[in-house]
Amino acid sequence: MRRTLAAGNWKMNGTPEMLAELATLTGGASDTAPQIIICPPAPLLTRAAEATANSPVDIGGQDCHANAKGAHTGDVAASMLKDAGASAVIVGHSERRADHHETNAQVRAKAEAAYAAGLTAIICIGESEEERLGPDCLDIIAAQLDGSAPDSATAENTVIAYEPIWAIGTGRVPTMEQIVETHDMIREKLINRFADQGENMRVLYGGSVKPTNAAEIFQAENVDGALVGGASLKAADFQPIIDALAAS
Ligand code: PEP
Repeated sequence: MRRTLAAGNWKMNGTPEMLAELATLTGGASDTAPQIIICPPAPLLTRAAEATANSPVDIGGQDCHANAKGAHTGDVAASMLKDAGASAVIVGHSERRADHHETNAQVRAKAEAAYAAGLTAIICIGESEEERLGPDCLDIIAAQLDGSAPDSATAENTVIAYEPIWAIGTGRVPTMEQIVETHDMIREKLINRFADQGENMRVLYGGSVKPTNAAEIFQAENVDGALVGGASLKAADFQPIIDALAAS
């Protein structure tokens, strides 16, 4: 039985004032309730961890460097995220793959750095619109998964987030048929490579998840939750998504 997960990616948004809302999110208190993780920008991590100390909300980073330390101006090591109160980190988000030219190999190295620091890696994969329209879409996603997930991935240290790039921040979502087909393929690949660990590894859907479409998306057997961008910024939008997950 996989525990469901609602993860919020604040991207380069967030103010100290917004942190108070985090403590109002409910759910996640027991193992049968969805886990909640909010990933604010790095400078807000410590305050976010303090704001959620007595709440069921866990905190995550949005990226980490593959190295443990060194001359990498502007970058953050996984252990620093851990020290700031994070228990997870997103790696390989499509915005980082696009803006910072991150490759599957780099994403894999970042996930390994996350494991070494004791963080869960939320590894993002997903196709462009052109790839979705072409004949090899599932093969492309499978190759991303193979290249980005380390051999040492387990159900505990890894979450996979399937995020079609064309659905992120656009208000567009794949059809349920496409979501089911893609998540089923990802599950099959995970089981082939990681056996029981792959069966138990959580696979999130991400891309324009809203209170209005969450319940339908969560009906799919191999959708274990969501990675949510815009709708995670306000408790009024994120809470109904958590509630839909709890009811799924
Ligand atoms: C994301 O950035 O991971 C994301 C899914 O964004 P949105 O929910 O805004 O589409």
